[in-house]
Amino acid sequence: MIDLKQDVQYIKGVGPNNVVLLQKLGIQTLGDLITFFPRNYEDRGKPKKINELVDGEEALIDVICASNMNETRFARNKVMLKMLVRDDTGDCVLTWFNQTYLKNKFKVGERYRFYGKVSIKYGRIEMTRPVFDKDGLNKNTGKIIPIYPLTYQLSQNKLRNIIENGLKLVFGKLDETLPEYLLETYHLDDINTATKQIHFPSNFEEYSKARKRFVFEELLTVQLALSSLKSRYDKETDGIVFSKEVKMSDVINSLPFKLTKAQLRVLEEIDGDMESNKPMNRLLQGDVGSGKTIVSIIAAYKAAKCGYQSAIMAPTAILAEQHMQEFCRVLEPFGVKCELLLGGMRAKKRKEVLEQLKNGEIDVLIGTHALLVEDVEFKNLGLVVTDEQHRFGVRQRANIVAKGSNPDVLVMTATPIPRTLALILYGDLDISIIDELPPNRKKIETYPVTKNYERRVEEFIRSNVVKGRQAYVVCPLVEESEEFDNFISATELAEKYQNAVFPEFKVACLHGKMKQKEKDEIMQKFKEGEIQILVSTTVIEVGVNVPNANIMVVQNAEHFGLAQLHQLRGRVGRGEYQSYCILIYEGNSKTTRERMKIMKETDNGFIVAEKDLELRGSGEFFGTRQHGLPEFKIANLFEDVAILKEVQALTAKIEEEDPKLEKEENRKLRKLVEEKFEDRISI
Ligand code: ADP
Ligand code: MG
Repeated sequence: MIDLKQDVQYIKGVGPNNVVLLQKLGIQTLGDLITFFPRNYEDRGKPKKINELVDGEEALIDVICASNMNETRFARNKVMLKMLVRDDTGDCVLTWFNQTYLKNKFKVGERYRFYGKVSIKYGRIEMTRPVFDKDGLNKNTGKIIPIYPLTYQLSQNKLRNIIENGLKLVFGKLDETLPEYLLETYHLDDINTATKQIHFPSNFEEYSKARKRFVFEELLTVQLALSSLKSRYDKETDGIVFSKEVKMSDVINSLPFKLTKAQLRVLEEIDGDMESNKPMNRLLQGDVGSGKTIVSIIAAYKAAKCGYQSAIMAPTAILAEQHMQEFCRVLEPFGVKCELLLGGMRAKKRKEVLEQLKNGEIDVLIGTHALLVEDVEFKNLGLVVTDEQHRFGVRQRANIVAKGSNPDVLVMTATPIPRTLALILYGDLDISIIDELPPNRKKIETYPVTKNYERRVEEFIRSNVVKGRQAYVVCPLVEESEEFDNFISATELAEKYQNAVFPEFKVACLHGKMKQKEKDEIMQKFKEGEIQILVSTTVIEVGVNVPNANIMVVQNAEHFGLAQLHQLRGRVGRGEYQSYCILIYEGNSKTTRERMKIMKETDNGFIVAEKDLELRGSGEFFGTRQHGLPEFKIANLFEDVAILKEVQALTAKIEEEDPKLEKEENRKLRKLVEEKFEDRISI
């Protein structure tokens, strides 16, 4: 059998330079190489006639060379090569730059195929930098060609070549990784066929089959790994047993408001976990504003009164400070000491905090990633809460947990996730849901409008800011981009607002490319009301609380996922003022209108998320990254929901019949899961 661990340097076509470049792509072994999947494919199979070419497309033409190469020198040492080709419908000019080795490559009167980007100006048809084959050859054309994710200095051609050579080595020799009975039941390609077809598909049908196999394998492995992790957790008995004598109700009765039924139910679940000897591993899901923070405060109270410390991790300094205020307000009357630990703290203060933490004076430590640093030592950490978990990886969760001995863990997220997704994202955790908002919340009014309403939206903002309110305006891009030239960028819009539209107000721009400190400063000023209009990218998505802001405008709303729009909408409606969410969209496709309608009519995050999952087609420019979903090698949690559901049903069945994967027929699955633990989930 073939050794997939062998170094790529031994593969034909890989020189010392390429080894380095491949390494940058994460490819070190033959196994890495053949699982470096294409991100796209070009159909260079069917030639078009010259008179059928469309400006801007990439196309294949089958033509006769009609002129010698014309060479023009310009800009000192640059060379432009031009050549005329023709078929029975017309002429086309081919252009290359600096590729002088092509000078004598073509012979007038002979037949070639060219594939490249077409441009048509004033009726003149051109193709720039085409790849080609001599008639009868199929090297660069005549088939479906894989396009790999960005390749640094490696050209697509070079990488394709290397992968082709790698495939020649392994084809027919790869060990099947899935059990035979699954291949049969789910009509999956065997691994040899799938590997070949995913890179060099004979047609798109074969490609789909190959892809399905790998998606299935990837999702099944992760799902089984999570489920085995969970069953491992469930059996652990060395967790902290928090005393039944400490009553959560003491804090609950001190609050100025009544907890919702959902909050009480969730607290009961948490209390049960805390009092049992099984370490808590619980996900707390709840819509924005559903009151998750107070739940974590009450859990921290219980830990403190039982003599244990809590660590509360938030993704940004602003959020950590916000939590700090709320924790102090509720817990200080009970003599529970809370402290803040942030990245940019002065050394003296930091040292002081660390000392108090170590000797147990601090009961609750609230902070950012700064909590993960090695010299942050607790006396006896008993509870870990991570807020907005998707910003932290599993590994970071593990890092903070390791600072205690088997502390209870509560993971909070404001992204309502449909059950199917929750199972693959948090399959190792128990799940609690707050599915109810505190009473007396004013409903946020949502208005989807087209770009024609821009002026009216601006006037609406003005009339509210004049009354003392503040507004968020979210754009899909930071800076102008050629690729998405119909989008307004945050920097552009902020400039336009400040100079031309709202010179009488203070406008600021906030985006992810800014330094954290800069972002925090701007957010602080917005909170304090110094800035009235905040133009930003989605960086403001996470739980920031500015009760005075009552308008959320989203530009190019059609390009955001619904769940994300819902998150953004949750930034307003946090105070006493009637709040508004205005979604400015372009295009009139049915899906866009449907999506806008859902946003207008639904304020329940879980329903929005379900619909989002149903409606999201491919080709969306906001990928899963913005949702904080983990990156899969090939699966896409939005597009592959159908496969995911199959996989989850299968996992449930296996869990029941062979939870430890001990049966002979599941031996291969066991191996997949073990490998998964090695590289990703291992803690
Ligand atoms: P999120 O779930 O988005 O983190 P928060 O915990 O920030 O929501 O809660 C939003 C606001 O609602 C806070 O000001 C909090 O004090 C308040 N709150 C929480 N629970 C209740 C309740 N049961 N009744 C009234 N207000 C509540
Ligand atoms: Mg929150």
